[in-house]
Parts: sequence; C-alpha cells; structure tokens
Amino acid sequence: METQQVVSYLDRHEADAIGRLMEWLRIPSVSTDPAYSADVRRAAEWGAQQLKAAGFDVEIMPTGTADEPGHPVILASTPGDPAYAGPHVLFYGHYDVQPAEPLELWDNPPYEPVIRPAEGEIGERIVARGACDDKGQVATFFEAMRAWKEISGKAAGGVKMTVLIEGEEESGSANLEKFVDEQKDRLGACDVCVISDTGMLGRGKPAITYGVRGLAYTEITLHGPNQDLHSGLWGGRAPNPVNELVKVLAQLWDQDRKITIPGFYDDVQPVTDEERRAWQRLGIDSVAALRSIGLGPDADVGEAGFNATEREWARPSCDINGIYGGYTGEGAKTVIASHATA
Ligand SMILES: [Zn+2]
Repeated sequence: METQQVVSYLDRHEADAIGRLMEWLRIPSVSTDPAYSADVRRAAEWGAQQLKAAGFDVEIMPTGTADEPGHPVILASTPGDPAYAGPHVLFYGHYDVQPAEPLELWDNPPYEPVIRPAEGEIGERIVARGACDDKGQVATFFEAMRAWKEISGKAAGGVKMTVLIEGEEESGSANLEKFVDEQKDRLGACDVCVISDTGMLGRGKPAITYGVRGLAYTEITLHGPNQDLHSGLWGGRAPNPVNELVKVLAQLWDQDRKITIPGFYDDVQPVTDEERRAWQRLGIDSVAALRSIGLGPDADVGEAGFNATEREWARPSCDINGIYGGYTGEGAKTVIASHATA
C-alpha cells in the first residue's frame, strides 16, 4: 500500500526530480583531473544535501592522507524503525564522472544536460556526462528516498540503511579500500550491499544485477639479450623476446577457448539450469550486438559450452590489453629487441 503511494508520489513529482538530476549533471565532477577538485567537492555536497532532505544523518568524509588527500565520500545512515527486523542495507554509488574529452564529438556541451529523443526507442533521454554513469542511477535512489520520507515520514521508509557514495570510482577507487577499512565498524555491520552502478537491458526492461566482474591486472616483461640486436646477424641464433612472448601468450587459451591458467576456474560458480532458462527468456540478440560493432554472426566465439550472454554474465575471461616490443615506428627496422612486454 505504502509502496503504491511512493510510486505515485514519484510519478507526480517526476519533473522536479529530473530538474534536480540536471543540477547535479551541471557540476563537472571529474575525479582524475585535479583541476576539477572543487567541482568534485561541490558534487559531493550536492549529494549529501539530497540525503539530508530524505532524513538521513549525513557526513562528507575525507579520504586519503594529509599529504595526498583523495576525493570525499558521502557517508549517510539511518537506524531504521525500532521494529524493523530486515537486513541492514548498504547502498553504494559514485558521484564522479569520466573526463568528457574529446569535446568536439559532443552534440551539446557535456555539462549542459539536454533532453533528446531516445535513439531507436520511444521516449526521451538525458544527454550529459555522467547521466548514465552514475549520477542518473544514484539520483533514482535519492528520489526514492525522498518519496519514502514524504509518504512514511521516516528516512528510507524505516529500513536500516547505510549509504556510501564515493568520488573516485572513475579513477580506480584509489582510496576506497583504506576508507572501508577505517570504517569497518560501520560498514561491516551491513548485511547486504546494493550497487547502483549498473545498467538496464533496454527501455522498459529494468535489471537486477546480482553479480559483477572483478579484475586482476598484471604486466609481464620478458628479457632476452642485454641489448637490441640486428636480426640479419642474430636472427635464428639468439632468442627473440617478442617471438617467445607471443608463444607463451598464445597458450593462455586451449582449442575450446578455455583459459589454461592453473586454478583459474576454481572458485567460479556454475551457471544453474534455472539461470540459463531465465536468461534465454530475455531474448537477448547477440548477433545484433556483434553487428553494432561491425562483426558478423561468425564472430560469436568464446569459451565452448556457453552462449554469449552466459560468457558475459557468468564466466571469467582473460584478455591481453596491450603488447609491445621491438620497433613500432614508421617503416621497418630489422631489430631483435632486448625485451618484450604485455
Ligand atoms: Zn560507474
């Protein structure tokens, strides 16, 4: 009953909500570029204000160290109803954005949001830096919290909740781990974490994302001779680090495109039959997705035994993100490089 009232409140106040999101989008909170530090701070204060209005206890907390300060975290909480017996919910999002360059590719200035027809779909969309990552998503949460406060008179409708909105997600969350560690008492008490930094399957197709990919990144350098060599003299006589490195890298996958690193799949949870069936029903068109990146249906390749959706959503992958060694400039140079890196 109350939920219905909240939904209809949101419908009635949609224009105000969009106006508020536009305000936030006008603040260029680019976390990677120190030139925007004051704007990043302003975006944090703006977010804190929304949570205050929704009845939360809010703090803007510093991160990093005195010598190397990071961007602040918005940390808010509400104790919930005395009678509330459900889980203590942690909500996570971020208020920083990626740099908007190259600016000439934008139809409108990135920090002057405009409403445009949604391409290929009915309805409209907001175009601005951060509109769909992550200010738009977090704004829906702010508005829901505002509505619950208005309808029930209680912050978060009486749910016990902690809110953490960081300002460094787009620059690798450099100070988040330390911050979480320092706030272990508060954050460790949470039972579930709701992340609002994901997408929808399409217009009218909201999605609950119950798993996200993590990341392990490494760089390797293979060293050979103590100097660059002429391949006319040394080719076939001494090992070429580039040749040897690509041989090693080529063994990362077997014939079935399974990753051969020992233990790689040890902790991977299997896809259940129920999940497979549920995902099938979503009617995801993987061929159309490939077409959108200029590839034909034959390019639907990956780990044997799984379709594209399963591979993306439930299977780990291994990719070379860069490889270099030897001469990469204009023209040719008959060099055997002393080392190669990937
Ligand atoms: Zn994001």
